[in-house]
Amino acid sequence: MKPISMLDLRAEYTLFEAEIRQAIDGVLESAYYVGGPEVGEFESELAKRVGVKHGIAVSSGTDALLCSLMALGIGPGDEVILPTFTFFATAGSVSRLGATPVFVDSDAQTFNMDPDGVRSAVTPSTKAIIVVHLFGQCADMGAIAEIGREKKIPVIEDAAQAIGASQNGTPACSFGELACLSFYPTKNLGGFGEGGMVLTNRDDLATRSRQMRNHGESRRYYHDFVGGNFRMDSMKAAILLVKLRHLDEFTRRRQTNAEMLGEVLAPAPVTTPHVAQGNVHVYHQYSILCDARDDLKTWLQDHGVGNGVYYPVPLHLQTCFAGLGYREGAFPVAERLAKEIISLPCHPMLEGDDIKAIGDEVCGFYAGKPGFEVTSSDTGASVI
Ligand SMILES: *Cc1c(COP(=O)(O)O)cnc(C)c1O
Repeated sequence: MKPISMLDLRAEYTLFEAEIRQAIDGVLESAYYVGGPEVGEFESELAKRVGVKHGIAVSSGTDALLCSLMALGIGPGDEVILPTFTFFATAGSVSRLGATPVFVDSDAQTFNMDPDGVRSAVTPSTKAIIVVHLFGQCADMGAIAEIGREKKIPVIEDAAQAIGASQNGTPACSFGELACLSFYPTKNLGGFGEGGMVLTNRDDLATRSRQMRNHGESRRYYHDFVGGNFRMDSMKAAILLVKLRHLDEFTRRRQTNAEMLGEVLAPAPVTTPHVAQGNVHVYHQYSILCDARDDLKTWLQDHGVGNGVYYPVPLHLQTCFAGLGYREGAFPVAERLAKEIISLPCHPMLEGDDIKAIGDEVCGFYAGKPGFEVTSSDTGASVI
């Protein structure tokens, strides 16, 4: 069997090679390498697409988070509420500013931050809530945005995994005070290198974010704040503009693959992704819950099926956050997810045969394991 990888970036590049090379040539000839006109064009196209007034392109998704928190003036003594089950950058950006991450447990079905946990984590020191749309589906924004409004706490959306997702018709990135995207090569809109964007409807926060991106300058060599160099290269924006044109098609392919995966995995004793009502999921990751996760992982590796564990350790149990005083057992859902979750390939370049092979391997693993039942099904998934 040919190996099935988690991503095939080379194949994606080959699809758009001519367009991409043309975009690169344009930048080379302009010799405007940082913050050129391509950056502005990319910002406005992306902002328009997610229904937000301002886009501020930055150097990474992590820097988008940092820049957003800086624009809100967050620093020492401030608390920021965020999920414990997320990528490290969500919390790291808070700590780097001297503020305190306050972790919240996850919803067992969607893996997103539990709104009740958010509500009980609010204190007079809470200065922001960062909500993560994990794996490509929006967190419960009705409930979380309501808490923000009621308590007058700004909500930042970490939409690094969720470009194109929506909830009840509202696109991710347009719920919060600010939103952050990542264009890391493995993301749904993946660039050729690092990249990110801050999005906001608020003129004041847009101006602040633009300043923070450029050492807090209000005009050349006049610094109102201490910011950073979070600028985006023209080349990256030019290439991302090309890829943005094809994003919808790629998202549809991910959704089709997810649907087929649901069918081929039906006989296996695993929990396939739950899409909450009103959500459009963009499947940045296709993450399932399963028993004997580590053995399944080894089995898949041995049988040429790519996979990933996102994430093996919730953030409240990370060594670097030991000083915050969280103990094992503090967030039982997140801790269970960390033990049972595994992501399977779902990327846009997969074919039907690949999906079937993934299903066969997962079913094959459980069929050979005493104590598990693999039900036969009429989906055509073969069971050993
Ligand atoms: C990827 C990611 C980030 C960070 O983005 P980078 O571009 O890698 O810095 C932040 N949050 C989440 C949820 C992510 O998946």
